Order: sequence, then structure tokens, then C-alpha cells
Amino acid sequence: MAVLHNRVSQAELKKLLYDEKEHRTTISFYQYFPVDDPKQFRDEMYMALHALKIFGRIYIAHEGINAQISVPGSNVEAFRNYLDSIAPLKNIRLNIAVDDDGKSFWVLKIKVREKIVADGIADPGFSMENKGRYVNAAQMNELMQDDNTIVIDMRNHYEYEVGHFEKAIEIPSDTFREQLPMAVDMMKDKKDKNIIMYCTGGIRCEKASAYMLHHGFNNVFHLEGGVINYAKQAKEAGLDSKFIGKNFVFDDRLGERITEDIIAKCHQCGKPADTHTNCKNDGCHLLFIQCAACATKYDGCCSEECKTVYNLPIEEQKELRKGIDKGMMVFNKSKKRLRPRLNEIK
Ligand SMILES: [Zn+2]
Ligand SMILES: [Zn+2]
Repeated sequence: MAVLHNRVSQAELKKLLYDEKEHRTTISFYQYFPVDDPKQFRDEMYMALHALKIFGRIYIAHEGINAQISVPGSNVEAFRNYLDSIAPLKNIRLNIAVDDDGKSFWVLKIKVREKIVADGIADPGFSMENKGRYVNAAQMNELMQDDNTIVIDMRNHYEYEVGHFEKAIEIPSDTFREQLPMAVDMMKDKKDKNIIMYCTGGIRCEKASAYMLHHGFNNVFHLEGGVINYAKQAKEAGLDSKFIGKNFVFDDRLGERITEDIIAKCHQCGKPADTHTNCKNDGCHLLFIQCAACATKYDGCCSEECKTVYNLPIEEQKELRKGIDKGMMVFNKSKKRLRPRLNEIK
């Protein structure tokens, strides 16, 4: 019986990774396609990727695959060949991470899930087989010239806040599953317009486009590879970027600048700013936008209260946090958590 899971401790695995001499490439990709037997698909893929010393996190569902992996440099080609041997994954677009040390994963985890993107869709008649048409950067720009075109942003509010396509409509909910019916409702009188949907990497808007078609919209498009791919294509082809501001991404930079426009405001003083930060108080960690002046004034905290706590001795801070369920607070980046701007409550 082949080994389908790891038998070595996390610490040992991490050490092995850091001892590696060979450079790893971080790659992400997804594809919606019917998987009859996700469990079997998973087991076969595990053996193939394990043999190529690939690490990472992969989800398999009846609706497809979503993967973030790191591949040893000398195995990248073999990995491509392996994907090409699976018909629905042949010539798939791989997103290669830039500025990356390749140390993002140290084990391979492939999990079978209900969905690759949780959508809350209960309708058994819904399927991913009928998707919106792909548009690339040039096609997107051209379609946006048409007065009959509506652009819909399927990302979260804090992403939209610092950067979005010109005239893009925000679907004001914190979760994708709430956004889907909301988008249908908001657009219900516009079934014959060109509707372009986009998100960060394409996986959400591709599903959203299928959902709109399912609800009787006729001309639905989605931006292939999302904002990440658009920015890359626009740069390479020297196109005007219709995406203005910053593309929010979950890495240390919390965003990649696409154009020089600063479209958001500091949540504390209201001056133009688009730098996201997490409140330095460990009992808070609120994600918010802070200008450089306020970062100095509040020591990187979201409020005077948090600044006071942050400047206490560590032991006292720990005492204060006892009994507070901070797990929820750290990861909850919902709108409800964003406090009123300080200058508005004064
Ligand atoms: Zn400020
Ligand atoms: Zn705070």
C-alpha cells in the first residue's frame, strides 16, 4: 500500500524543507470540471505529486480542483506534464508567485471537500458547466467602453475600498454566499446588459457568472484569472489599466499597487490613504486603513484604547485578554467589525 499521508512530525518536515538546497516555485491554479469520484481522484493525485516532492494545499470536490502548491524547480516541467495528462487540466493557466522564497508549504495536503468555493447554493439544478464567457485584459477594456456594460466586483469590501475597476459595482456583503443572491437581486432589471464579473484570482467570479446565467441573465462575462492576471496582462501589453488603486492580497504587503491613484481614506483622520494594517494590540488586530501620520500618532493601533493597552507591559496585556475570545476577532474582517471613523464619532 502506498503512503497516502505523512508519517513524519511537523517539526521534522519543516526542518527538511529549510535544509533543502533546491529552489521551489509557488504555483496556484483552479479548474471547475466534473469530478465523478473525488476520493479516487485525490488518491491518484496524491501519489503523483508526492513522487514529485510537491508540497501544498489542494481541495478536490465534485465541481473541480483548487490548489496552492510549491514545486521543486527541477520538477516544474514534470508537474506540467502530469497536469497535461489529465484532460480537463491540460494547458491550464498556472499562477506563479513572484517575490517568493518557495517556503510556503512543508507538507502535501489534498482534501476532499463539498465545494472548492463555499457558495451556499442549495438549488440542485445549478451546475458549473454553463459559465460566463472569459474575457482577457484587452477584451475587458473594450467591453467597458460599451454603455451597455456593467462591471461587478465580487470581492470583499476591504478589497474594493482600496482598488477596483472604474465604475465597478460593489456587492455589499461580507460573504460570497450572501453576495450571490444579492447580485442577482441588484441586477434583476438588467438581464440583457453585458455583465462582467471579477474577483482577485478568478475562482469566485467564475462561479458567480454561472450563477447569473442560471438566473436568466443573458450576457455574462468573467475576467479570466481575476485582477492578478489582468494587471499582469495589462502591463505586458502596455494597456491602460481600468483597474485603479491597489489590488488587496493576503501577503505581508497587504496589497499590490496597480495605479498611482489613492482611492481610499485613512479610517482615523480621513486623509487619502490606502495602506491596510492590523491593529498592533494583540487583543484587537482589527484590519483597517491607516495613514503614516496616524500610524505614528496611534503607535499602529486602531484607537486610543488599543494604544493604551499596546503600551502596557506584556504581562498586563495578557491579563486583560483573559476570557476574551480573540480567535474570532483576529480573523473576522467583516464590515461590522470596522469601527466608525474616529473623526466621525468625535
Ligand atoms: Zn490618518
Ligand atoms: Zn485595535
